[in-house]
Amino acid sequence: MHVEKNYSLSWDIDSFFKGGSHSAELQAKLEQTSKELAAFTTAVSEWDGQDYTVFTELTSSYANLGMATFQMGSFVECFSAADASDTYSDTLLNRLGSLNATLQNASNELSKKTTLLSDEHWQQWLETDALKEIAFVLDELRTNQTFLLSDKEETLINNLSVDGYAGWSAHYDTLVHSMRFDVVNEQGEAVSLSAGQTDNLLNSANYDVRHNAFKVWEQTWQEKGALFADTLNHLIGFRLAKYQAREWDILDESLRLNRLEEATLNSIWDVVSNNKAPVLAFLERKAKMLNLDKLGWVDVEAPLTLTDTQTTLTFQEGAEFIEEHFAKFSPKMAEFARNAFENNWIEAEDRDNKRPGGFCTEFPEDGESRIFMTYDGSANTISTLAHELGHAFHSHVMRDQSPLNRDYAMNVAETASTFAEILISDAAIKVAASKEEHIQLLEDKIQRSVAFFMNIHSRFLFEKRFHKARLDGAVTVEGLNKLMEDAQKEAYVDSLKDYHPTFWQSKLHFYIDDIPFYNYPYTFGFLFSAGIYAHAGTVEGSYEDAYIALLQDTGSMTTEELAQKHLNVDLTKPDFWQAAVDIILKDIDEFLELTK
Ligand SMILES: [Zn+2]
Repeated sequence: MHVEKNYSLSWDIDSFFKGGSHSAELQAKLEQTSKELAAFTTAVSEWDGQDYTVFTELTSSYANLGMATFQMGSFVECFSAADASDTYSDTLLNRLGSLNATLQNASNELSKKTTLLSDEHWQQWLETDALKEIAFVLDELRTNQTFLLSDKEETLINNLSVDGYAGWSAHYDTLVHSMRFDVVNEQGEAVSLSAGQTDNLLNSANYDVRHNAFKVWEQTWQEKGALFADTLNHLIGFRLAKYQAREWDILDESLRLNRLEEATLNSIWDVVSNNKAPVLAFLERKAKMLNLDKLGWVDVEAPLTLTDTQTTLTFQEGAEFIEEHFAKFSPKMAEFARNAFENNWIEAEDRDNKRPGGFCTEFPEDGESRIFMTYDGSANTISTLAHELGHAFHSHVMRDQSPLNRDYAMNVAETASTFAEILISDAAIKVAASKEEHIQLLEDKIQRSVAFFMNIHSRFLFEKRFHKARLDGAVTVEGLNKLMEDAQKEAYVDSLKDYHPTFWQSKLHFYIDDIPFYNYPYTFGFLFSAGIYAHAGTVEGSYEDAYIALLQDTGSMTTEELAQKHLNVDLTKPDFWQAAVDIILKDIDEFLELTK
């Protein structure tokens, strides 16, 4: 007998803390954690750097405090996203921010004290039963201490960073908020819009709308160029002064954050660069389909509208579609998704007063996750739902690991999500109702990978060159425009009709202070998942357990070690990356064939 199921469109977060933003349970937890944190800080400062038993206790307190603050942070993030009018969340985030800073300071002191031990003695500790599971993370924390300057100098750097580094990053937001763009909207009305709203118009399916908006977009940024050039020059100037003092190369910090070798990064860009010809063929075909001789900057991601009748699925149908196609690869993934739907882990309702976008966040103390998004039934939101479920699955398979091993870097953070998304978008393409819809879905999928090949590549080229140039002094507006346009021309192999020289102003990612080079991890993550997908295809029988084992290790080894152990490949060599790229090229071949 078929039993009708009925999945809820709204989530349950009361099971963590009852009562929303003013939850008494949350307040009690905040008080409790503050007390424990104060005790931890005292214990760290009293530790002599030699007593092993005390060290193991401190390590486990550190892990537990990290989980507690994460748990509360997730809760605040959830209710503030679901109700954008709730202003009390800012107060709570502020309080959590200072708890996190205190925890960070104490853990820094703890890892600094481990450098008092001889290397030999330290290695003996790491081999003990209590510590061997988290040896990689502990050793990384200790090694990072050796890159730092004296206590006095580091304290000074941290204090100066508030105004001299983070301050410029925050100033960027202030500048962007002050920007208005006088454009014509989809309805043909003259309107004055914010940067975010105008950015949406750049993706319009209507040629005139997106091109006129782009003209205003470029012009308006250009007028404010000097303000942004100052901001970026000061921000990166501060970063480079810090790097010089610590004797770090431009990419050192970023590579360390991503637990990645430079040889791997070079290998990725080499393979990407060597495979641009088919991507160009795709762009050329797309230009033809849009009746253009060449694509302009805003045409690259413009949607193809071949059919008005797009298949949409109800939330229930979308969920069942995901369960069905996850199951073909991994019954455990499907069962996990079913459990998430049945237990109201997802906030998907289409209504006002909700923040845009989607995310997945973990409640580590309960081993559960929650997903936030707005579901509209299109193939696109079903992919998004699969993407976020992939994140949740990643947390799920790591839930029994030591908390210190669960913190994975940005480059591998998108592995499970992208993988789940590939499974579902491939399935959606296969069941498309018409040839037009098939082409449209395929184009959308290819277009998203083109961004990793071209757009992200240009960001990396720009950022690296700008850092180098900045070592010799501030770069002018004209200089920045030229660096940006040259990087775009190189990344797109001169194939576009026009470029976006002021992109260094409009893209927030260049202004993030604490995560330098917020670009290549995207390309890495995408190709890494595609490579695993390719690898899965070459293995006899079920790949499920091997895949789960790989995800479980994402927080406790370098990226190269992870790939060596689970895929038996050397990431510094091109082979793995080529196999990943071939997956995308296959889609492009199919697209070119279908649209002949
Ligand atoms: Zn994601």
